[in-house]
Amino acid sequence: MGTQPRGGRAPTGAIPSKRKRQMARIVQKYGGSSVATIDLIKEVAKRAIAAKNRGDEVVVVLSAMKGETDRLHKLAREIAPDPPARELDSLLSTGEQASVSLFAMACKAMGERVKSFLGFQAGISTDDSHLSARILDLNPARIRTELAKGRIAVVAGFQGVNRAGDITTLGRGGSDTTAVALAVALGADVCEIYSDVDGIYTTDPNVYDKARKLDMISYEEMLELSSLGAKVMEIRSVGTGMEHGLRIHVRHAHGTGSGTIISTEVSDMERTPVRGITHQTNEARITLIKVKDEPGVAARILGLVSQADIVVDMIIQNRSRAEGGEPGLTDLSFTVPLPDYSRAMELMNEAKKSLGDAEVLGDDNIAKVSIVGLGMRNHAGVAATMFQALASEGINIEMISTSEIKISCVIDKRKAELAVRAIHDAFGLDRPPEELA
Ligand code: ADP
Ligand code: ASP
Ligand code: MG
Repeated sequence: MGTQPRGGRAPTGAIPSKRKRQMARIVQKYGGSSVATIDLIKEVAKRAIAAKNRGDEVVVVLSAMKGETDRLHKLAREIAPDPPARELDSLLSTGEQASVSLFAMACKAMGERVKSFLGFQAGISTDDSHLSARILDLNPARIRTELAKGRIAVVAGFQGVNRAGDITTLGRGGSDTTAVALAVALGADVCEIYSDVDGIYTTDPNVYDKARKLDMISYEEMLELSSLGAKVMEIRSVGTGMEHGLRIHVRHAHGTGSGTIISTEVSDMERTPVRGITHQTNEARITLIKVKDEPGVAARILGLVSQADIVVDMIIQNRSRAEGGEPGLTDLSFTVPLPDYSRAMELMNEAKKSLGDAEVLGDDNIAKVSIVGLGMRNHAGVAATMFQALASEGINIEMISTSEIKISCVIDKRKAELAVRAIHDAFGLDRPPEELA
């Protein structure tokens, strides 16, 4: 990705005593709920214009109006259950195309100079993976030109173009990635992500009203939270921000709160062992019972799954030593994304004879509840507190996985939100960090 340092900052001409503010280059991204109606589009246009009137250079990235991407997906599936990806990408990209045109019209109607751009016009080149394309190169020459002319540039999020010239999309939530990648390529001072929440919370505030807003969070913690289901920031955008040290500021699109800064610097006061809790219900578990316990068996099973391009998340293999357990046999469980569940079950049922006539069980009623925090590395007893919180609500832990800064438990899907609330209470996350540190 082109990450040339930006040139041409306006001279501040500052006399220090007058503290004249230096011009900043800002990328503002507004999500679907923030541009859900024409009135809201006018509101966010006013916000972008206000930033420009403060003397900053402003690039705006927009999502499709709320519900539009889902609506387009649904239309396509009324024609075919598995529509051709190239055509689906062309269709989905129209959501963002409509938003940026409407936004530009709203700005013009307010007397502001503005120009809208689709992904390809903004120089966003991707690989060929329709529906989950990666940005390979970003050359925002036209955006720079517009900024130099004193215009607001508004760019359609979520889309790019591949080498063949076909439209691609970046995966759900991909407008965050457009915004961060553009901010990096333009050498912006900050990427502001505007949404329907006023920052990153200790857990989804729509799941638990005791969730507390964090003033700051580290890239590493945000990466984990995103990968474990906190959809407030799309994971690739956090990775790109981290790689380039870009300051990301998550804020409410229609509020005045201070939001949350995602960066490397997190004050010591904020270093409580657990910073956030997530839950996900987009995986299913497959268990093979009484598999031959011999070298290579796990490689064979998981090899079959990976050959089908199915990504396995958690894996547990356990030799039953219980009384009556059969010698030479083992049980193996793993989780796969829900959309791949039936294909993975088919594969296992086809393969079970060669695995010692194993029995195959499937369960798509699972949820993964996770806790995340850099401070976990230095605090004992974090796992015990989490497990005790689940036990006290009578929630059975079915699988566990850990890394240095996270612990995840698979539980019954119906108990997921209860589990989040119980764990949040157990760690006292509704209290300010200075009380917990
Ligand atoms: P947008 O449409 O602006 O991109 P998203 O719907 O993608 O917004 O993300 C915002 C949503 O993320 C919130 O409405 C909230 O329900 C959810 N969310 C999940 N976890 C968190 C969290 N830890 N902090 C804040 N919001 C969260
Ligand atoms: N419109 C796309 C989606 O709904 C991209 C985005 O909103 O970030 O996933
Ligand atoms: Mg989003």
